[in-house]
Amino acid sequence: MQKLRFDRPDGRYLYLYGFDQPLPALLTIEDQNRGEDQIELRWNPLLAEHVIVSTGRQGRTFLPPPEYCPLCPTVDASSETFATEVPAATYELAVFENRFPSFRPDAPAVENDSALFSRARADGRCEVVLYSPQHDATLASLPESQVRHLIDVWCDRYGELALTEGVAYVFIFENRGQEIGVTLTHPHGQIYAFPYIPPRVQQEQAAAFLYHQRTARCLQCDIVAEEIAAGARIVATAHGFVAYVPFAARLPYEVHVAATAHRESLLDLLPAERDGLARILRTLQAAYDDLWDFPLPYTMSMHQRATDAHPRAGDHLHIEFMPPYRTKDKLKYLAGVETGAATYINDTAPEEKAADLRAAAAGSSGGASAPLSSTISDTAP
Ligand SMILES: [Zn+2]
Ligand SMILES: [Zn+2]
Ligand SMILES: [Zn+2]
Repeated sequence: MQKLRFDRPDGRYLYLYGFDQPLPALLTIEDQNRGEDQIELRWNPLLAEHVIVSTGRQGRTFLPPPEYCPLCPTVDASSETFATEVPAATYELAVFENRFPSFRPDAPAVENDSALFSRARADGRCEVVLYSPQHDATLASLPESQVRHLIDVWCDRYGELALTEGVAYVFIFENRGQEIGVTLTHPHGQIYAFPYIPPRVQQEQAAAFLYHQRTARCLQCDIVAEEIAAGARIVATAHGFVAYVPFAARLPYEVHVAATAHRESLLDLLPAERDGLARILRTLQAAYDDLWDFPLPYTMSMHQRATDAHPRAGDHLHIEFMPPYRTKDKLKYLAGVETGAATYINDTAPEEKAADLRAAAAGSSGGASAPLSSTISDTAP
């Protein structure tokens, strides 16, 4: 893997990653202005958690036509054409600092004049990870080797951000689909380097801690073993990974992809397990896309070891996919019981939905354990 860092005049960095091709030459571009927006953390005393206030995000690019996609390569910087976020005529994978961040390394100082309403600096990083230079690609349509390279890039970003001062948690995620609020359709994910451990992760850590205290075992290791033994909720398997609809899934098509051996973070994966993760991610994507013949929107959240230098017994790498659909044409809305009482009502049996997804995975790829062909056009039954 080759890696090139480019620092823009506006202070943001860009990394180009090269695997199969030499790194492209960087074009000279005029830099965009970076706004001086209000960005801070506000403490919500009622729930004892932070809210990020980031006013610049209102101005971010909203569903531009493909020729103005800021995530495509820059066609020709010398003419009047549009300079994108990547000043190169092509790239394999790229990572850059979000122009409309929720955290930034140079976040403005804050003043506190109330003990109850306290603010903190929104210190951290917000990165955009470009999966492919192809505007219309999806994880399932990309060759498996490209998804494998993406995993290497995730590992690189996790490793670098983990060593960055003040970063307590590296949160790798993806929002896909306009139903989720995605404003750019070009295939990409994001990374937030949090200055604290997000509440949802803290809740998982607390549950894993209590379980470990009681049993001296890793909770996720035991969940994975029991899911594999039960079998009814398994969607796909690949070397070192299993995808399943959780026993107590909150959403009908929720799927967790977990390491089958105890792996605390991406960096603990053996090369063959990185291969397995690439394979199972493509299989799951193909199943989601083939279920109703449209790319199923979802949020993808990767949970792994925190980077605050406190080892925790229950840290175990897994990725949670949360599609907001409950049927082909019905969205699952988070209503009063979910938002006001934090209790999900799932209208379906997880075993039934796992069977639907398993059938879609088998139809689209011949099953995760069979070799996957390299392009989506080859994967139709
Ligand atoms: Zn694009
Ligand atoms: Zn474990
Ligand atoms: Zn989790």
